[in-house]
Amino acid sequence: MMIWMNGKLVDAQAATVSVFDHGLLYGDGVFEGIRVYSGRIFKSREHVTRLFDSARVIRLTIPYTPEQITEAMEQTIAANAIDDGYIRLVVTRGAGTLGISPAKCSHPATFIIADQIALYPPELYANGMHVIIASTMRCHPNTLSPRVKSLNYLNNIMAKLEAIDAGAPEAIMLNTEGMVSEATGDNIFIVRHGRLITPPVSAGVLEGITRQCVIDLAGEARVEPVEQNLTRYDLYTADECFLTGTAAEVIAVTRIDGRQIGDGKPGPITQRLTAAFHELVRREA
Ligand code: PMP
Repeated sequence: MMIWMNGKLVDAQAATVSVFDHGLLYGDGVFEGIRVYSGRIFKSREHVTRLFDSARVIRLTIPYTPEQITEAMEQTIAANAIDDGYIRLVVTRGAGTLGISPAKCSHPATFIIADQIALYPPELYANGMHVIIASTMRCHPNTLSPRVKSLNYLNNIMAKLEAIDAGAPEAIMLNTEGMVSEATGDNIFIVRHGRLITPPVSAGVLEGITRQCVIDLAGEARVEPVEQNLTRYDLYTADECFLTGTAAEVIAVTRIDGRQIGDGKPGPITQRLTAAFHELVRREA
């Protein structure tokens, strides 16, 4: 496997970062997870823009232009002959001293991995999945904004551990106000009385690129999209529920904290949106 590392394609064994890298020591850095469909990078511009926005918020200067990053991703998928796969694009603060100050980190480390994608098993797509609502809350936007896709995922990992303990593949996190935010690695939607509802970005969610695709496709699925705060009650009484994310795409949720959602199968609007999303992917590829 070839890794794009600080401007060069190198063998995976040679793609190393320093033990003094603040990405490793403190989770100080930003990243993107991006799909490749039929050899084309899906929503490349949106991902690169989000990477640069995340970097701007944490005052990390990426030592490449968005065009250079895009070109580097193209080179990495070509070098690894990836047709359908996944790109991990990472920029760390770079090697510094043992203190948290980024001031001594002179050079960010930038690397790109292009690999196969590990999906949820097919039966979860066919039947829907069971999720729990975690007791771990999503970070308040005035701590580290959930809009920053940073290398520090511990908040989400704490919730994911609760899911694993409960035997569920995913956990939903509430914000500090008790409103629904998102899953640990996906955004959430519900369908209720014919409306497609997802929490607003102000509820403390990553502005998911798949989330935006689904909002844009709502018209095709003959449903009105609404960004509105949701409570636990809204999830439990939803007619349909699904998650969206680059890796997961669109996946139905059919049980939340032991309550069956709708008739316990992926709902009709979820199915229409899943089909519309796959059609969009085909069109763009
Ligand atoms: N929320 C979180 C916390 C995520 O990490 C991700 C991405 N894995 C998403 C939502 C979904 O975002 P996207 O559709 O851009 O992949």
